[in-house]
Amino acid sequence: MKRRIPFARPDITELEIAAVTDVLRSGWLTTGSQTKEFESRFAKRVGAQHAVAVNSCTAALHLALEAVGVGPGDEVIIPTMTFAATGEVVQHLDALPILVDVLESDHTLDPSAVERAMSARTRAVIPVHFAGKACHMREIMELASEASNCVVIEDAAHALPAACDGATIGGLGDITCFSFYATKTLTTGEGGMATTDNGAWVERMRMMSLHGISHDAWRRYSDSGHWYYEIINAGYKYNISDIASALGLSQLARLDDMHSRRRAIAAAYRAGFAENEAIELLDPGNESEHAWHLFVIKVIPEVLSCDRDTLISQLNGAGIGTSVHFIPLHMHPHYRNTFGYNPTSFPTALDCYQRSISLPIYSNMKDEEVERVISIVNELTNSL
Ligand SMILES: *Cc1c(COP(=O)(O)O)cnc(C)c1O
Repeated sequence: MKRRIPFARPDITELEIAAVTDVLRSGWLTTGSQTKEFESRFAKRVGAQHAVAVNSCTAALHLALEAVGVGPGDEVIIPTMTFAATGEVVQHLDALPILVDVLESDHTLDPSAVERAMSARTRAVIPVHFAGKACHMREIMELASEASNCVVIEDAAHALPAACDGATIGGLGDITCFSFYATKTLTTGEGGMATTDNGAWVERMRMMSLHGISHDAWRRYSDSGHWYYEIINAGYKYNISDIASALGLSQLARLDDMHSRRRAIAAAYRAGFAENEAIELLDPGNESEHAWHLFVIKVIPEVLSCDRDTLISQLNGAGIGTSVHFIPLHMHPHYRNTFGYNPTSFPTALDCYQRSISLPIYSNMKDEEVERVISIVNELTNSL
């Protein structure tokens, strides 16, 4: 029996282990010099003036919305095809999530649906760069700039490193939020980052990330700092540890290598499935600008004689771990009960969800594993 191919596997080398060990020996574990260095290198890498490291992408999204002033009664447009985080942070600020449908071709926010959803109360749009392919940002940024008071906060949890028409994701929208969760393209175990060119928003996010206190812990407790602090607002506890930031720094140094490997796997999958008439692939856009966090196949029910769920369990039986991204927000009990959605409220997202399977793709995946996934998927879809 061959070894199981898991859906995800973190790519941790001796470089990361040594960096974390150094921090453990240093006497300083919480937010400190490693975090400062991680922020400045990350900002440079994505072409932003500032970066704020926090303990999750969810925290980054929450802080971003708070910093731009989203509050009670405001509307925030988000795609229904996303993870829980994108929607919940809007509600934490007593604002209203306005769900919209996605494009069939790449599962990203449909600009025409955004246009229809815009109102005088729209304060923000949160495009989600699904699977690592940038949203149609030119159209979305244009719609936001035509509105009187609307910012674009990107959920770039899948999009490191990615670009859109030559512009690196992270230096494009008003604020961009990244995730360093264990399965993402760069991991710190748990972690996140917000990038922006706006200095006032950075100050606000920094302050609110640490209890609404006017100085961060490093300045407060280090030799050059002060014992004195002031609570300016009821903030949150969203800071990242230096243990995580050291891990992030070593991952960042390997980001381009890890990205090349993901691109090679995606290219092998695309070639391997080119002749398979029972599945279709998403539009990758410019292949080199795609982060390839996910590789999604969509079954074609008219051709495949079984349903998606059966294929998932057959793949599982053959030793291949898969996942589904995402169960659209509007199909979950909270959104149905609170906002009155039903499954057909967003027909494209519903159809995409019902036909999608995410295959294993990670930088330490072996050629033999990639080939095995291709042949098993092809065998199963042509025989089932
Ligand atoms: C993973 C993910 C998040 C949340 O990231 P955390 O770092 O776990 O908070 C947000 N949005 C999307 C689209 C994600 O996939």
